[in-house]
Amino acid sequence: MPLIVSYEEAARVVRHEAERAMAQARPEERVPLLQAVGRVLAEPILADRDQPPFARSTRDGFACRAVDLEKGNLRIAGLLAAGQSWTGGVLNPGEAVEIMTGAAVPPGADCVAMVEHVTVEDGRVQLNGQHGPASGENIVPAGAEARRGDAIIPEGRRLGPAEIAAAAACGAASVPVFARPRVAIVSTGDELVDVAQAPLAHQIRNSNSYSLAAQVTAVGGEPELFPIVRDDAAETEAAIRRAMECDLLLMTGGVSMGRFDYVEPALLEAGAAFLFTGVRMQPGKPVVFGRLGERHFFGLPGNPISTLVTFALFVAPMVRALGGEREVAARFRMARLEEDVAVKAGLTRFLPAHLQSDVQGAGVRRLPWQGSGDLTAAARANAFLVVGETRETMDKGEIVSVLEL
Ligand code: AMP
Ligand code: MG
Repeated sequence: MPLIVSYEEAARVVRHEAERAMAQARPEERVPLLQAVGRVLAEPILADRDQPPFARSTRDGFACRAVDLEKGNLRIAGLLAAGQSWTGGVLNPGEAVEIMTGAAVPPGADCVAMVEHVTVEDGRVQLNGQHGPASGENIVPAGAEARRGDAIIPEGRRLGPAEIAAAAACGAASVPVFARPRVAIVSTGDELVDVAQAPLAHQIRNSNSYSLAAQVTAVGGEPELFPIVRDDAAETEAAIRRAMECDLLLMTGGVSMGRFDYVEPALLEAGAAFLFTGVRMQPGKPVVFGRLGERHFFGLPGNPISTLVTFALFVAPMVRALGGEREVAARFRMARLEEDVAVKAGLTRFLPAHLQSDVQGAGVRRLPWQGSGDLTAAARANAFLVVGETRETMDKGEIVSVLEL
């Protein structure tokens, strides 16, 4: 029954399941625009008129005909601020209109000469030795950005600041978004106590339920924390059945080969079909994924860094897909390695790392860690350095792949 796959294969399986989830219908709701930040658009936002709605000046200066300005000075026929409309009709040959950025260019004008490039004297304007603007320069024609009815933002896009701006420009005071998927979080382990409780010497606090809740929220899900489950077969199975009312089930701990690891057998008892039961990676090797009826579940290893990494790689795409997002893959970026790295081959490694970037590029270095239980290292890390399954060494200066958290 064990189904141990490579990281690439596991990612492919999750992607396949996520794509199926994406295709399913899901509930929608309408929310005020400002509450839509981070939500996923359920219907495209359409341009309610041409964008820009009028030929827009992109400079402060003088609207005129380019050929006229090349020939000599022009009579200034008026002044146009943004928000004013021109009532003077078609511009006559030999005339210019002083115009501000964002104002509608008067009919007849085909360019805007920048105020920095002209001199004004006795109600006339001429070039101050600069090259004159070409026809069309410093004007965005009406409808050049979008036509009325065009989809400005597609369905399935997570709304960030730029999307909110585009929606506002289209008059979308409220927007249709998909309901957040409810994600059940069930931590297992006899040694666990809740955060508010004082642990005895041999106990530890349940940090995974909290890190998972934070990660679920960050990718657009609604976390539901269930009580800690003891290492007991019947209790584990009962918890699974309760949690299945949610759209996705996350369990942590109890998926290794220990004598008290009951999660896999309990899932099986509840009717689970496993898609993989382990991945050749570190941290995160014991991670399991599968279907339980219509729903999906993940059994994540209990070690806190394993939990963080397996969520970022596998769970995040699934939560995003259940939330209706179209671009769900885990986010990697390339960076220059700042020191040599040596590991044992045979597993894809995700090593806690520090990534720093500027306009020139990104650099990454490993952080010291005590293995996949080392939460202090995780808290210092802002990324994970990826070492491919067959690699034993990577050299300083090499361009490497990094998982961003
Ligand atoms: P397990 O996957 O159950 O074998 O647990 C592996 C390690 O992770 C053990 O050291 C556990 O104590 C620790 N661990 C398991 N669950 C949690 C949790 N919810 N929060 C923090 N640490 C955990
Ligand atoms: Mg355990």
